[in-house]
Amino acid sequence: MSETIVVIGAGVIGLSTALDIQQHLRRSQSILLVAREFPSDTSINYASPWAGAHYRPVPGSSPQALREANQAQRTYEFLKRVAADEPAAGIRFIQGVEHLEAPPPEYLDRESVRNVYPHLDGFRALAPHEAPAGVKWGVQYGTYVVNSPVYCAYMLRKFILNGGSTRQYTLAHVNEAFSLTANVKTVVNCSGTGFDDPQSFIIRGQTCLIRNPCSATITRQNSDGSWSFCIPRPLDGGTIIGGTKQPHDWDPNPSLETRSRLLANAAKWFPFTPESGGKFDVIRDIVGRRPAREGGMRIEAEKVAENRYVVHGYGAGGRGFEISRGVAEDISALMLEKGLLQAKASL
Ligand SMILES: Cc1cc2nc3c(=O)[nH]c(=O)nc-3n(C[C@H](O)[C@H](O)[C@H](O)COP(=O)(O)OP(=O)(O)OC[C@H]3O[C@@H](n4cnc5c(N)ncnc54)[C@H](O)[C@@H]3O)c2cc1C
Repeated sequence: MSETIVVIGAGVIGLSTALDIQQHLRRSQSILLVAREFPSDTSINYASPWAGAHYRPVPGSSPQALREANQAQRTYEFLKRVAADEPAAGIRFIQGVEHLEAPPPEYLDRESVRNVYPHLDGFRALAPHEAPAGVKWGVQYGTYVVNSPVYCAYMLRKFILNGGSTRQYTLAHVNEAFSLTANVKTVVNCSGTGFDDPQSFIIRGQTCLIRNPCSATITRQNSDGSWSFCIPRPLDGGTIIGGTKQPHDWDPNPSLETRSRLLANAAKWFPFTPESGGKFDVIRDIVGRRPAREGGMRIEAEKVAENRYVVHGYGAGGRGFEISRGVAEDISALMLEKGLLQAKASL
């Protein structure tokens, strides 16, 4: 009898996971992707289209940091192939630069840095004379930038072309997904914040999308602990100027004062082309909610009844794009381990 796997969520995590699962389907299995929002929709609670997005490693040696570092490395290698093979996917490799004025302890710990940076193409520390005034720690490397709405739309197209089905629907409970169609044994929960998980919380982010082009993605940590960054979006998608990280802040409105501060810092720190004459051509303010979780993502297979599993994959916080492919592979591996998929590709 044919079986349907339901994947909840059409953000970067749900789409990446659905595509990976498609590589392991048995002939009798198909996938239904169910989501409240799809890439053509906008909502403050749908994080993916608002992401910058770039890859900037996060040094550390906690279990979460090491797990994410591993997922990020696999995603980096995967996106290199996507950028080379499919330019319309909205991924481009460019130079990444980091300038920190007051580096936190993990940046000064050699092992924490070694855990996350050396795999990057051309990675090197900046000599003191190469760093701008006030910068105590600087590095440069090859990294990628993502036009996040374009990349999500590309993945959705690919999923459908591979035979996947979609349904726009808001679930009241994760278990409702078992009743959406006949014979559902596995539900994959990539809903961003999960369903009533007390460990989940949101991190508000405000950025500004401008037309001015920029050739590198630069991140600067200011002496007051705030961060400034510029992220050029591929395919003429403008440049994202960021940004704030405000845990538990539910304000849906952009703050004009924040916009002015972000742009003033960008004018000071980032090398925009001389044609801009120091002026920014603002397209829009962006406010989004990063779906975070204490301790990091929940990637876990939960047996909810005889022959029924919910496989969780939510809580990516501020790193959903950077770790997306690694997370998708980890979810598929968990499903293979539980016998919910087959090891050999059948496509
Ligand atoms: C301003 C900003 C800048 C960022 N910059 C970066 C960056 O540079 N690099 C990076 O890697 N990440 C960045 N992020 C973080 C990134 O956007 C998130 O980590 C990522 O989008 C999370 O993806 P997700 O698929 O888990 O969640 P989401 O994109 O939020 O998707 C969740 C999906 O689940 C669906 N859903 C939820 N509840 C239900 C329900 N009850 N019923 C049906 N469907 C449901 C939603 O409709 C949606 O389709 C940034 C985020 C913001 C806001």
